[in-house]
Amino acid sequence: MTQLLNGKVLSQQIKDEIKETVAQTTFPNGRPPHLAAILVGDDGASRTYVNHKIKACEYVGMNSTVLRFEQDITEDGLLDEVQKLNEDHSIDGFIVQLPLPNHINSDRVLQAIDPAKDVDGFHPINIGRMTLNLPSYLPATPMGIITLLERNNVETSGKHCVVIGRSNIVGRPMSILMSRSAKVGNCTVTLCHSRTKDLEQHTKAADILIVALGKAEFIDKHHVKEGAVIIDVGITRIEDDNMKRGFRLVGDVHFDNVQELCSWITPVPGGVGPMTVVSLLQNTLLAAQKAVY
Ligand code: NAD
Repeated sequence: MTQLLNGKVLSQQIKDEIKETVAQTTFPNGRPPHLAAILVGDDGASRTYVNHKIKACEYVGMNSTVLRFEQDITEDGLLDEVQKLNEDHSIDGFIVQLPLPNHINSDRVLQAIDPAKDVDGFHPINIGRMTLNLPSYLPATPMGIITLLERNNVETSGKHCVVIGRSNIVGRPMSILMSRSAKVGNCTVTLCHSRTKDLEQHTKAADILIVALGKAEFIDKHHVKEGAVIIDVGITRIEDDNMKRGFRLVGDVHFDNVQELCSWITPVPGGVGPMTVVSLLQNTLLAAQKAVY
């Protein structure tokens, strides 16, 4: 029987746990944890993601600040803002919401963040520490997937995990985490990407299939082995006049088509998305507790 990996329910449970911890903890800085977010331009999806993060902070009793900048801010101007946040002792951690406008080099901006405040876990130092299994902030989306598997007691050890997508924020770190010697890990990992030949041959061999390529309903039953665990990271907005907001969200997996075949599956929405937000809160808590650096 197929079971749902329900990120909406689990994320609520973890938020309640964090809320209790925040209320009961005396933090080294003598105030609740404080997350800041840099938002550049007016992209609707980015605005929605930042709003979700800020609302989640409010729910758990953390402080939050959004710094909004016009689309035409220069790279140097943005780097100055990052530096100000690095030096601001009232902020424990901060994120730069991606994507940034084309004229700004995202790598330069992400690398300017103090690793101790990099609660998105994108800085090379945090990625390096993650790779070496040292204490670090894990990238929020892969971390959320690990938590989803862990809290649902999904066995990963010795399994063949196939990850589709090699982005720095999802696919690549995910592949590293699943191969680590850790409670959720110990997988034999295959990383597929846009140049992979005969994708279906790889996906059909997966005990655990993690899909992060950003193409709506790309994966169907022909790609999936019976009994597989399916994690759908993709989020694509599809125009839909029947919806009040004019669109609906669709994953990279054709849910209805695949559902009956697999043992576990994440829905979209309500799967990986809410777990990403909760991971950011967990990292912010670690930053305020000075538990990593
Ligand atoms: P990306 O565009 O940076 O990377 C996509 C990857 O897919 C690339 O590495 C590419 O090689 C691979 N790819 C593209 N076409 C392919 C094909 N035909 N076969 C095999 N591989 C192929 O995307 P990303 O930032 O990793 O995001 C992926 C998806 O996940 C997007 O839909 C994004 O919106 C979503 N996302 C969701 C969350 C969440 O919290 N749920 C977080 C981040 C990203």
